[in-house]
Amino acid sequence: STLEQTLLSAIRTIPDYPKPGVLFRDITTMLGDARAFRRAVDELVHPWAGTKIDKIAGIEARGFILGGAVAHQMSAGFVPIRKKGKLPHDTVRVAYSLEYGIDEMEMHKDAIAPGERVILIDDLIATGGTAEAAVKLLKQMGAVIEAACFVIDLPDLGGRAKIEALGVPVHTLISFD
Ligand code: 5GP
Repeated sequence: STLEQTLLSAIRTIPDYPKPGVLFRDITTMLGDARAFRRAVDELVHPWAGTKIDKIAGIEARGFILGGAVAHQMSAGFVPIRKKGKLPHDTVRVAYSLEYGIDEMEMHKDAIAPGERVILIDDLIATGGTAEAAVKLLKQMGAVIEAACFVIDLPDLGGRAKIEALGVPVHTLISFD
């Protein structure tokens, strides 16, 4: 079957999670499906197959699962981008807004050397606020961001345009209206 069919049938939709009116796209079913998981990992970075990538940066928490698999596949290092207070060594930090209030995410200061080529990974892009904050952190480190890759795009929420406006190409596998 096609990539789109494989992923659509492997991703579960949970109504009213985490609050009424939200349709949550649950990728745990995709991760538990060996064929769908492999397909997603392969296709996430397919356009960069012949490119030397130094580091995969994954956003907590689902970006760790996908990013770790992608890093292994590309023989790249893996760098976690985490909610504040979780990383033990010196960090760079950025604030970003959530639907209600603000949060901060951080990365180890020595995780990426200036000029290293990085791909950013998360499971889903909605408004793009989370990925935008991650891009800001990576730019502070002097990373060359080759792309930001997501399994799922929610195009109505405009995240892709927000990230492309920062000069970062966006690659997604499927979208939900
Ligand atoms: P954004 O910052 O683009 O508005 O939201 C994207 C972030 O929220 C990502 O880190 C993503 O994991 C999480 N997220 C928001 N909605 C969903 C959803 O329906 N399913 C999943 N799996 N993650 C979501």
